[in-house]
Amino acid sequence: AKLRVGLLFGGCSGEHEVSIASARAIASALTTPPNGDRYDLLPVYIQKEGCWQAGRLAQQVLETGVALSDSDPAAAIHRWQFPSAIAEVEVWFPVLHGPNGEDGTVQGLLRLMQVPFVGSGVLASAMGMDKLAMKMAFAHAGLPQVQYLAVSRGEVWSNPCVFPQLCDRIETTLGYPCFVKPANLGSSVGISKVRTRGQLEAALDAAASYDRRLIVEAGVVAREVECAILGNDTPRASVVGEITYQSDFYDYETKYTLGRADLVIPAKLPTEIAETVQTMAIQAFKAIDGAGLARVDCFYIEASGAVLINEINTLPGFTATSMYPQLWQHSGLEFSELVHQLVQLALAGS
Ligand code: ATP
Ligand code: MG
Ligand code: MG
Ligand code: MG
Repeated sequence: AKLRVGLLFGGCSGEHEVSIASARAIASALTTPPNGDRYDLLPVYIQKEGCWQAGRLAQQVLETGVALSDSDPAAAIHRWQFPSAIAEVEVWFPVLHGPNGEDGTVQGLLRLMQVPFVGSGVLASAMGMDKLAMKMAFAHAGLPQVQYLAVSRGEVWSNPCVFPQLCDRIETTLGYPCFVKPANLGSSVGISKVRTRGQLEAALDAAASYDRRLIVEAGVVAREVECAILGNDTPRASVVGEITYQSDFYDYETKYTLGRADLVIPAKLPTEIAETVQTMAIQAFKAIDGAGLARVDCFYIEASGAVLINEINTLPGFTATSMYPQLWQHSGLEFSELVHQLVQLALAGS
């Protein structure tokens, strides 16, 4: 008999549309040969406002690629009423990017349901989403990273005397340019590159509107290289890829406007640098207790030869042209075989 796979997509996050695009690619890989003979697909769509949909509406979003709104009369069911079809799911494939899906919340729910699922568990998902927790784990593992400061929303908003001191501290310890980020987000949402005091103040205010926890990092001049990880206890690293673009940094627009960024796979790097990136990527995966898959983003500072770890993403973009599946494609693993292996890794457990 075929195995019933629950494809969980959409989600309450700024990366909702990206999730739909990823889910479309994975759904097509699960339903065409040879996977079509192995798996039976149940699409489960989480609307932006949190309502779960299975059946016709989930199928419709998957087919059209267009998000459904809670205000859509067809979608009006109670928020916490889960579709009964989810009881039949034998393995879950969560394809949710960002908060409320990549961060351990959904993973906790699936763990409670006692059904295996693709990817990292609660801890690794939460650590991978929170840039401050992530950096502490990386530091503990001895991984080199950029200089940074942790900032709380309270320092930005609550106390008018503390704020100028905070800005002074950032200027003296990190200098310009620096990057201001909400701790828990993705797709560069809420991130600013700042070069002046005025920009710093505005960026802190903007980032604080997304998260209670913020991070400010020293800006580095570097090439951006990424590596894909696949596996549970014995994770493998893919070839290394590079992202190139013309804009000031790899911001949301550059990420999602067609033609703004190029993926170079494999990256043109000295062999020892590529190996360093692969080794660091596996260390990073283990440092957060990752499972299944992850994409590790690094900075390669050509001038000094240094490789710094930037971050790990436990549910990276998964369209056919996304970096994660492309890296495996160039490592000899086809998209449909990759999807199959991920489901098998979920069943094997971590
Ligand atoms: P993702 O979509 O990969 O999850 P994210 O929202 O988690 O992204 P980061 O990867 O931390 O964000 O940063 C986004 C981009 O900002 C980087 O790809 C890079 O272009 C730039 N950037 C971030 N931090 C730095 C830094 N310290 N120095 C130089 N560039 C940086
Ligand atoms: Mg990220
Ligand atoms: Mg991300
Ligand atoms: Mg990134």
